[in-house]
Amino acid sequence: MSDCIFCAIVDGDIPGRIVHETEHTLAFLDANPLAPGHTLVVPKEHHARLDEVPADAAADLFAAVNDLVPRVEAAVDADATNVGINNGPAAGQEVDHVHVHIVPRFEGDGGSPIHAVAGERPDLSDEELDDIEAAISG
Ligand code: 5GP
Ligand code: ZN
Repeated sequence: MSDCIFCAIVDGDIPGRIVHETEHTLAFLDANPLAPGHTLVVPKEHHARLDEVPADAAADLFAAVNDLVPRVEAAVDADATNVGINNGPAAGQEVDHVHVHIVPRFEGDGGSPIHAVAGERPDLSDEELDDIEAAISG
C-alpha cells in the first residue's frame, strides 16, 4: 500500500533495522521501543487485520515470531517477553499493517502483564458464557 510505513520498510524505501527476513515475513526494531530489543514482525504483503493474512503467510509469520523470541531475549539479556498484536484501532493499532510486537521484559521493570491491556473486567453469567462459547465454536 502506497502510504503504509511498514510497506515502505519492506520495499526498502525507508530505512529499518532489519533483524530477520523470510519469504513472507520481515522483522525490524521498533522505532520507539518500549524496551531494548522491542521488535516488530510483519507479513511482507499489506494486510490490516490478522484474519486477512493468508494461511501460508500467517504460518510463516508465527514461525518467525517463534524463532525470534529467544534471539531477542538473548540479545538484550531479557528475563521474558510479551508477544502481542494490536488487532484493530479499538485495540490500539496505529499502523494498519499487521505486526506482532515482541517486547522484552526484565525482572522489576515496572511493566504489566498482557491482562492490563483491556478495560474493566466483565462479570459474565453462565448463560452469557454458554452463548459466547457457542458463537466462537460455531
Ligand atoms: P501499533 O500501535 O500499531 O500496534 O504499533 C505501531 C508501532 O510501530 C509502534 O510501537 C511504533 O513505535 C512503531 N513505528 C511507527 N512508525 C515506525 C517506523 O517508521 N519505523 C519503525 N521501525 N517502527 C515504527
Ligand atoms: Zn503495509
